[in-house]
Amino acid sequence: MTSTTMLILGASGDLAKRLLLPGLGSLVVGGDASDLRLLDGLKVVGSGRSDRGGEWRDTVAGAFEQIGAKGEAVDAILATTEYVQADPTSADDWKPLLDQVEGDLVVYFALPPAIVSKVAAVLEGLDLPEHTVLAVEKPFGDDADSATALNAALGRVVPEERIHRVDHFLGHRAALAMLATRFNNRLLESSWNGDAIERVEIVYDEKLGLEGRAGYYDTAGALRDMLQSHLLQVLAVTACEAPSHFDAEHLRNSLAAVLSVTRPWTGAPVFPNTDGPSRRARYTAGEVDGKQLPDYASEKGVDPEHETETLAEIALQVDNARWGGVPFVLRSGKAIGDPANEIRVHYRPVRFRPDGQTGDASAEVLRFGFKPPRIELRFTSGGGDMPFELEPVQVSGTLPKSPVTEYGEVIRGVLGDDPTLSIRGDVAVQCWNIVQPILDAWQRGEVPLDEYPAGSGGPADWS
Ligand code: NDP
Repeated sequence: MTSTTMLILGASGDLAKRLLLPGLGSLVVGGDASDLRLLDGLKVVGSGRSDRGGEWRDTVAGAFEQIGAKGEAVDAILATTEYVQADPTSADDWKPLLDQVEGDLVVYFALPPAIVSKVAAVLEGLDLPEHTVLAVEKPFGDDADSATALNAALGRVVPEERIHRVDHFLGHRAALAMLATRFNNRLLESSWNGDAIERVEIVYDEKLGLEGRAGYYDTAGALRDMLQSHLLQVLAVTACEAPSHFDAEHLRNSLAAVLSVTRPWTGAPVFPNTDGPSRRARYTAGEVDGKQLPDYASEKGVDPEHETETLAEIALQVDNARWGGVPFVLRSGKAIGDPANEIRVHYRPVRFRPDGQTGDASAEVLRFGFKPPRIELRFTSGGGDMPFELEPVQVSGTLPKSPVTEYGEVIRGVLGDDPTLSIRGDVAVQCWNIVQPILDAWQRGEVPLDEYPAGSGGPADWS
């Protein structure tokens, strides 16, 4: 018996093939009994304007094979999956799509962001199954007004609790570990504030350059693509107050509360050579891992007039009693030679050192790494040849590996009707409000667009 139909719009695209379908397969590989119940009777329908019907089943089978998913659940999905050629912005094309639906409906928008509101307007006029869930990818709008309008458009289709605004970073091991570890660890819990912590950095650099995605990226840039969405969510899980429960209501209230008091840094300059809370840069030609990358501005589809940044760094403050005075630095860049991707929590030096030394030799740094997921603590310790002499020590551990991918977590929430790890509508708007003053300053030309060679660590004078 079919219980749910998952309709993937934009199934011919990169997200569906590379992340969504393997994510679904990962629930077969690593999911527990409740995950297998979610997959029981699941019908997966792919759709797009292009004719992919002949290859669809192979695409699904390939994604499952790639992640090692096999067995009855996989066979059942492969036996019922269909592809329907349709334009989701055309009301007429929805007839054959809805003919495929059995049971409850999940509509997954794996579509370019500009199309989402058009599809929402079409859905509003359709007779959808009573239990319909919408899953919408980031970026959610392109400013606070468009995000508000998109909230309203989706809200006319289904109630808020059935709208999953996807941010797969909330399903990332490092983000989940941050939440779980912080609140269940006496040592951390008691020192998780501005008295003990001096600065927090959330960094997600990558080696990849544009990879042919100019159509989307050249109008977005690093700040909109990574910081406004993913890294603000990571800030929220790092800085939020303890929710009473890890459920949709309480966790999302905590995340919303901390983001509601987050804004661009106004304290003493955080970045050398600039007074403002942001800096931006764009890569020029260079080599990453033996591969030559052209100057970003000369890539196919790029309009240099857009002045799109491929590296963004911003400093934020969280205006509450726990975090007042602590800068939260968010950074993400493309074409970085030795990329870091981690949350770094820098502790303050101790107030007094009996060894007569001063400075930060004793300051601890706690790191939550994204790739591979790990926790590492750097501190100073005695015990070497000389009595009382301090040596840097590092303890680290790889986080328990889960076969369920980040997109597996997303799909678990969507199929399980549990929006805990998705973005609430007011938060989607607030995330634009947080970065808007920075975008405005860039638009006014107040922050220079620096350059760095691909393969370097960023502009030479940034460090
Ligand atoms: P693509 O650009 O690959 O587009 C997906 C599909 O959308 C296309 O294959 C196309 O299918 C359909 N489409 C394109 N234009 C239109 C249109 N005008 N009207 C109707 N359908 C259209 O996107 P991705 O798969 O890369 O991403 C999908 C979403 O997921 C985006 O919101 C993106 O930001 C987000 N995302 C993507 C990630 C990734 O790594 N790819 C990672 C995280 C989020 P057809 O031509 O067959 O209709």
